[in-house]
Amino acid sequence: MRLVITGPPGAGKGTQGTRLASHFEIPHLSSGDLLRRIIASGTDSAFAQSARAINDGRMVSDETANALMLGELAEPEAAKGFVLDGYPRTAPQARTLDGFLGGRGEKLDAIIALQVSEAVVIERLSNRITCPSCGESYHALLSPPKVAGVCDECGFAGLSVREDDLPERIVVRLGLYAERTKPLLGYYESRGSLIAVNAEGTEEEVFARIVETLVH
Ligand SMILES: [Zn+2]
Repeated sequence: MRLVITGPPGAGKGTQGTRLASHFEIPHLSSGDLLRRIIASGTDSAFAQSARAINDGRMVSDETANALMLGELAEPEAAKGFVLDGYPRTAPQARTLDGFLGGRGEKLDAIIALQVSEAVVIERLSNRITCPSCGESYHALLSPPKVAGVCDECGFAGLSVREDDLPERIVVRLGLYAERTKPLLGYYESRGSLIAVNAEGTEEEVFARIVETLVH
């Protein structure tokens, strides 16, 4: 199964990407996780510099994004399938990815576009606590860390709601997301591989809907 999962901030891409990966026994290739690993490794390669740029909120070039993610796809673990999360982000990246896969006689099975209303995103994100160290996220009310302010996964102390996740910032981010991804989603739609999935409700409900669309 070769999948791309997309969706606005707060749609649950990371969570659903991880679940899909374990369900189909394929790697979950998240550009965000990959960049965090590169930054944590402390090297000063060109990749590490771009990784820091993205961390500062800047967009990475198509060239760098392609080099990073196609490098991951060339690994033996990704030979039988994968879930891509955070890549491709632009129509040119999508075309490069198609070319790369085509060269191996492969193609994407589906692009899952998670759909969620602005109100739901605001509710989710304004209660989201993300660990800046390992990327783990918590919901302040529904799934808080065991010890307030401390990451269950890596022990990082000082967890808090990101400034980016405050309601007024969320509305701006959603607008930017819609504008930036329109050409990408249009590209996949024209190829008939885009599957829109309602991403409201519990994690289990959303996951069941995704799997349902993939097996039919
Ligand atoms: Zn952590």
